[in-house]
Amino acid sequence: MHKKSNISSAISKDVTCPFCGILCDDLVIQNQAETLKILKNGCPKAAAAFESKQLVTSAKIKGKNVPLSEAIDAICNILKKSQNPLFAGLGTDVDGMRQVMHLADKTGATVDHMHGEALIRNSLVLQDLGWITTTMTEIRNRADLIIFAGTDANNYPRFFERTIWNKESMFKLKSEQRQIVYIGNQLDGKAGINPNGKRPLFLNCKTEQISEVISSLHALITGAALDIEKVAGIKVKTLQSLAEKMKTAKYGVIVWSAAELNIPHAELTIQNFCELVKYLTRFTRFAGFSLGGDDGATSANSVCAWQSGYPLRVNFNKGYPEYDAQRNSTHKLLKDKEVDSLLWISSFSSKVNSPCASIPTIVLGTPETKLKFKPDIFIPVSTPGVDHSGQLIRADSVVSLPLKKLRTSSYANVSSILKQVIERI
Ligand code: SF4
Repeated sequence: MHKKSNISSAISKDVTCPFCGILCDDLVIQNQAETLKILKNGCPKAAAAFESKQLVTSAKIKGKNVPLSEAIDAICNILKKSQNPLFAGLGTDVDGMRQVMHLADKTGATVDHMHGEALIRNSLVLQDLGWITTTMTEIRNRADLIIFAGTDANNYPRFFERTIWNKESMFKLKSEQRQIVYIGNQLDGKAGINPNGKRPLFLNCKTEQISEVISSLHALITGAALDIEKVAGIKVKTLQSLAEKMKTAKYGVIVWSAAELNIPHAELTIQNFCELVKYLTRFTRFAGFSLGGDDGATSANSVCAWQSGYPLRVNFNKGYPEYDAQRNSTHKLLKDKEVDSLLWISSFSSKVNSPCASIPTIVLGTPETKLKFKPDIFIPVSTPGVDHSGQLIRADSVVSLPLKKLRTSSYANVSSILKQVIERI
C-alpha cells in the first residue's frame, strides 16, 4: 500500500474489486482512518460495498456473544455429530475454498455454492458437448459483433466500459466498429449505444423463446430456408440479416448470464448458443462468453474441480468425491431432509443469507449479516479484497486476480477459521 501524507491516510492503486464476477482490477481506493473511499474507477455496486462501515459484532452461539475459540469448538461439536453435513453459500476466495474442500473431505460433506443453480446450467453444457468460449481480453481486443442473449449485462456495471467501449485495444479495433445485438425480453440497451450514438439492434422475444430464435439463426446459417414469416414474433428477414452479419463478422461473441436464464432446462438454451458458435467457426472466429461468478462462484467451482476432479455439487460422504448436479443441490438436500447440519459461508455480501433450516446451522457471514432466524453458531468474517489479501478467479475462468488488504479488520477470515476447525475436529 502506498502511503500518502500521514499514517491514517493511504491510497491503494490497481485494486481488484471482488463484488461481481468481472473483477475490475483498476480501482483506486483511499483509506482515511479505516474508512474506504473509491477515488477512481468504481461503480455504484462497488461503492456500496467498499464504502460501507464495518459493524462491530461478535461470534455468537444461539444468539449469545462468545469468544471466537468457543464458537470454533462448537462448530467442531456439530460437525463431529453430523453424518451428512452440507457446506453451502461458499462465498469465499480461493484460499477459503481450499479449506472448505479439505473439511468436506474430512467430514463427508456435500459442497454447493449459493449460485449453484446458475453454475450447473453451464457445467452441464460443458460436460455434454463441450464449448468454445473466450475471455474479456479477447472481446476487448478483437470482437466486432457482440450478441447479448437474455442479458443486458447491467448486473456487471462496468462490463461495457472495460470490455466493449474501451479506449484502447490491440489490433486497432475501434470501439465504434463494434455491432451490438440484444436478444430477449425487456433488456435495457442503454449501455449498448456506441460512443457515436449508434443504437444496438434489438430482437425482442420472451426468455423462453431465445432458444427458438437461436435455432432459427443456426438453420439460416446452414443455408436452410424457413417457410414462415416470423419466429417468436421476429421477422425471418431480420433473422436472415443477422445470420449474414454473424457469418461475416471477424470475431463474434454470444454473451449470456446463466443466472438470468431462469427458465426450466436453461442448459438447453445455453447448449444452443454453444452449438451455433461451433458451427460459425466454419466461416469465421466466434466464441461464447458467460457472465457470472459473483460471490466467488467461479473460484469455488474451479477449486472444487482442481481438488475433486468435478465441478461443484460434490458429495464426499462415501469417502470419495461423488458429483451429482441435481441431487447435491442445497435446495433439494434441505427440502428432502438428506442433510443433518448446514455450514453457510458468505463473506462478500450480507444480502445472500443462509436458508432457515431445521437442522444445526453454522453461519460464517459478514458482520452486517441480518438473519431471519438465530443460527446455532454465527461467526462474523472478514471480506477478501477489503479486509485481507487473497485471490479470486474471474468470470472467464482464465485469470486469477490478487486481492488486497485495504483496511484493518478485527474479524478472522474464512480460511483461518476453517483451518482451526480442521485441526480440532
Ligand atoms: S463492475 Fe463489478 S467488479 Fe467492476 S467495480 Fe463494479 S462491482 Fe466491482
